[in-house]
Amino acid sequence: MKKDADQTQWKPATQLVRGGTARSNFGETSEALFLNSGFCYESAEVAESRFNGEAPGFVYSRYCNPTLLMLEERLALLEKAEKCCVVASGMAAVFASIMCDIKPGDHLIASRVLFGSCHYIITQILPRLGVKITLVDGRDLTAWEQAFRTNTTHVFIETPSNPTLELVDIAAVATLTKQHGTRFIVDNVFASPLLQHPLDLGADVVVYSTTKHIDGQGRTLGGAVLGSESFITETLLPFHRHTGPALSPFNAWVALKGLETLNLRMERHCVNALKVAQFLEQHPAIETVSYPGLPSHPQYAIAQKQMDQGGNLVAFRLKAGKRAAFDLLNKLEIIDISNNLGDAKSLVTHPASTTHSNIEESERNTLGITANLLRLSVGLEDADDLIHDLERGLKG
Ligand SMILES: *Cc1c(COP(=O)(O)O)cnc(C)c1O
Repeated sequence: MKKDADQTQWKPATQLVRGGTARSNFGETSEALFLNSGFCYESAEVAESRFNGEAPGFVYSRYCNPTLLMLEERLALLEKAEKCCVVASGMAAVFASIMCDIKPGDHLIASRVLFGSCHYIITQILPRLGVKITLVDGRDLTAWEQAFRTNTTHVFIETPSNPTLELVDIAAVATLTKQHGTRFIVDNVFASPLLQHPLDLGADVVVYSTTKHIDGQGRTLGGAVLGSESFITETLLPFHRHTGPALSPFNAWVALKGLETLNLRMERHCVNALKVAQFLEQHPAIETVSYPGLPSHPQYAIAQKQMDQGGNLVAFRLKAGKRAAFDLLNKLEIIDISNNLGDAKSLVTHPASTTHSNIEESERNTLGITANLLRLSVGLEDADDLIHDLERGLKG
């Protein structure tokens, strides 16, 4: 890499392909896969100075490794974050971002429609540790205003939410978190780093599952936490280094290569998803469609304000209930039944019986995760083929 380039000045497409690349003495073109757990030192003095932080350099792959560092630097550039820490999965990122400093007596507010495992951490693990929690309807600003207490230390949201594609107004919530001196963490998985920029809108910390759009081809698990230099270095890294949710260098390498095509893929994902959402919206068997790129989305104005495009996830409800939803899944020939998302392959899931089955039925219904709801991750196939697949599946 030309060492003097100011990579922060590059456009995202350039950052995605070249950001953070560090070549070894061999001058390899593609990012090297450093599949090593440990490092050697020229002398005992060097080892000592690396460990006490006086000399830069790697010490152990549980902390970091050259392939991991390339991914961290590329993601940080893209997010315009001071620093990034990559971890083994999206859930490891969510968990570490909250657990790194939360303590008994603290109060966390979260938007109530969340990925199933995020819901588990917030409603099952945190209360057990003496953390107070409040779940709010993320769409309701008055509910947000009323939820803050003197001991509120953390706010966690997901927008668009999994699986209903509800939105939270990031800038409006950021105004409140700043007033109350509360750390604001945004799970930005559904939008990807390209379509929404929570740090620009006032968030303090952004988390990703690289498993989704960043890998983009359903191969590896991974996650990332991004934020200020002081938060990552002083608060997150000690927790990360000593508890061990380290990302495999191989998975980091796959994610790096995934980033190179992320903008091309997201463009096609969004074009395809809009076409599919428009098709579903006019279909007589469909009760509701939720897609942030459609003017019919109840929070379309917020989508226009904070998202560049609608993304690749579409949620929809069938008029004829769970049976019709299952029949559709079973009849599809191209779209696979899978709870993964952000893949080149279109994937559809029935959240109530899979990803969100750990939430009680009455609560699921309050959250809109009804038995007739399906969540579709629109892939990179030809949109017409996907529409024909759905059309055939929806025939009685
Ligand atoms: C998938 C997902 C996660 C968890 O990521 P993993 O890599 O599966 O651990 C967290 N949040 C959201 C919104 C997700 O979709």
